[in-house]
Amino acid sequence: MLNFRSKILISFIIAFIIIIGLMFPFTASTVRKISYNAMELRSEELIAKLISAPNNDALVRRLKEQKALFFFRISVITDERKVLYDSHTKRLLGNRFSQEYTVDHPEVLEAFKNGIGYSEDYSELLGQKFSYFAKAFDFHGKTYVLRTAFPYKYMTDLTHDFEIGIIGMTTVILLLFSSMTLFIINHLTKPIQQIINAVKPYQEGRVDTLPEIKINRSPSDEFHKLAETLNSLSTRIQKHIEVLTLERNEKRAILESLVEGVIAIDSYMNITYTNQSALNFLNIDIEDNLINHEFTSELEPKCYQLLRSCQQLKKPLTDTLEIQQEGPKIYLDIVAAPKKGNTGAILVLQDKTSHYRILEMRKDFIANASHELKTPITIIRGFAETLHDNPDLPQETTVLITEKIVRNCKRMTNLIKDFLTLADIEKLPESRLSECNMIEMINYCREMIGNVHPDAKITVNNLTQHEIFLQADYSLLELAFMNLIENAAKYSTPPAQIEVTLEDLGKMIRIKIIDKGIGIPEADLEHVFERFYTVNKAHSQKMGGSGLGLSIVRTIIDKHYGKINVSSKVGVGSTFTVLLPRREI
Ligand code: ADP
Repeated sequence: MLNFRSKILISFIIAFIIIIGLMFPFTASTVRKISYNAMELRSEELIAKLISAPNNDALVRRLKEQKALFFFRISVITDERKVLYDSHTKRLLGNRFSQEYTVDHPEVLEAFKNGIGYSEDYSELLGQKFSYFAKAFDFHGKTYVLRTAFPYKYMTDLTHDFEIGIIGMTTVILLLFSSMTLFIINHLTKPIQQIINAVKPYQEGRVDTLPEIKINRSPSDEFHKLAETLNSLSTRIQKHIEVLTLERNEKRAILESLVEGVIAIDSYMNITYTNQSALNFLNIDIEDNLINHEFTSELEPKCYQLLRSCQQLKKPLTDTLEIQQEGPKIYLDIVAAPKKGNTGAILVLQDKTSHYRILEMRKDFIANASHELKTPITIIRGFAETLHDNPDLPQETTVLITEKIVRNCKRMTNLIKDFLTLADIEKLPESRLSECNMIEMINYCREMIGNVHPDAKITVNNLTQHEIFLQADYSLLELAFMNLIENAAKYSTPPAQIEVTLEDLGKMIRIKIIDKGIGIPEADLEHVFERFYTVNKAHSQKMGGSGLGLSIVRTIIDKHYGKINVSSKVGVGSTFTVLLPRREI
C-alpha cells in the first residue's frame, strides 16, 4: 500500500504527463496561427505601400524597393491570375519565366474568392516544403493577390522550440509545486505520524496499555486537540478494559474453584472454556489445551451426545456417567444446557461418587445380610421339618436337633444385633459422648474376653505413666476393643497370647492389640475391614463370626475421627493399631 505522500507524488506525475500530452497538438496549432497572423500583418503593411502605385510597373518597382520587408518569397498575381512579380521564379527560371503563366495555387484561388487563403505544399522549384499565405487587395479597381511563402521548416522549428519551452516550464512548475505540496503535507502530517508512532507499541503488543500521545503543538492547534481527545478516549477504554478484565478474572476464578466440572462449547461444538475440575474428570492433561478444539465423540461419547441433543431440543438434559480412571471408578451426574441465543451449550459434570457408592454399599449390605440370614433360617427350617415329620425320633436326636436350632437362632440374633449396631453407628449423637478412662475400658474388655476365652493370656500395658482420658461414646468404643481383643483370641491357637498397649501421644492416643495368632494373608489385609469379609468363612462361622466385626470396629473408629490399620504375617501374628484424636468431638 502506498502512503499518502507517494500517492500525491504519483498524481503529480500523472497530471504532468496529461498536461504535456495535451500541450503538443495545442502548441502546433498555436504556432501555425501565430505564423499566419504575422504573415497577414506584414502582407497588409506591404499592400498599403503597393496600392498607391500608379500602374503595374510602378507596383513591381515598389515591390523591389521593399525587398527588405520581403518574406522568404513573394509574388503578386493580377486579376487575370498572371504572375506580375515573383521574387524567386524569375531568378530561378531565367528565360523560362513568363508573365503569361496562369497561377492556380489553392491559396491564391481561395484569396480571390474569400480575400485570404492558406496552404502548405512542397515546392519542386525551391526543393522544400512551404507555408503559403495569399491576400487579395484592390489595385485601381482590379483584384490583385499578394502571395507570400514561408519555409515550412521554420514553422516546425518554431513549434519544437515552443514545445521544449513548454516542457521545461511545466517541469519547473511541477517540481516547484510538488516540493511545495510535499513540504506542506509533511508539515501537516507530522502530528499524524506522531500519533501513529505513539500507539505503535500497543498495536504491536509490546505494551498492555495505550501510551499517552504527546504532540509539540500549541494547545489551540487541531492536532493537539485531537491528541487530547484520543488520550482521554484511551484512558476511558483502559478503565473499561480493567473493569472487564477484573470481572472476567472474577468469573474465571469462580468457575475454576467450582468442584463441578464446567465445559462451554459454541454452536459448532468447538470448546470455548473448560475448568480444571472438568479436565480432571475427563482425565485430560492440562497441557492438551482443549480451547478452540472440537468436542468430538472420542473425547467423551455420552457428553458429546448430550451436548448435541440439548442444542437440538433447546432444553437442558441430564444423564449419568461412570468413569474408570487409574484409581477407583467415579460416578458423575452430567447436565447439558443450551446457551442463551443458541450460541452453544454448557456441560456441568458433578461428582456423585460418594452418593452412588453409598447406594451400592446399601445394595451390597442388603444382599449380604439377606444371604447371611438365609443360611441359619434354612438350617432351622430343615431341622424343624425333621422334628415335625418324625415325631417318634429318639430323645438324644431330638435334643441334638433342638440344640442346633437354638445355636442357629443365636447366630441369627447375633447377626441382627450386629446389623442394628451398624445402623445405630451411622448416627452418633453428641449426647452420647463422655469422658472415658481408656485403661479402665481396656481392662474391662480383658475381663469379659477372659470369661469367654479362659485360657487366653491378655496383658495390658500402659506405656504412659498416667491415666488416659478421651471424649468418646463409651459403649461403642468398648464394643470396638471388645471385637479386636476377641478376634485376637479367636484367631490364635490356644492358649492365645495377647498384648494391649496404650500410649498417650499428646494430641492422639495410640492403642495396639498384638497377638501371636494365625495371622492374615497379605492379599486379604486390605479387605478385612469390609462388611461380611472373612478370610476363612467356615472358621469364622465356627467361631460365631459373620465378617461384620472389623467393619463395625472401623465405623466406630471413623465416627471418633480416628484411624485403624493392621499389619500381619501368617503364622506369626497380627497387630491392629488404633489412633484416636484427643479433642472435643
Ligand atoms: P468375623 O466375624 O469373621 O470375625 P471380622 O470382621 O471380625 O469378622 O474379621 C474379618 C476377618 O478378618 C476374619 O474372618 C478373620 O479371618 C480376619 N481376622 C480378624 N482379626 C484377626 C486376627 N486378630 N488374627 C487373624 N485374623 C483375623
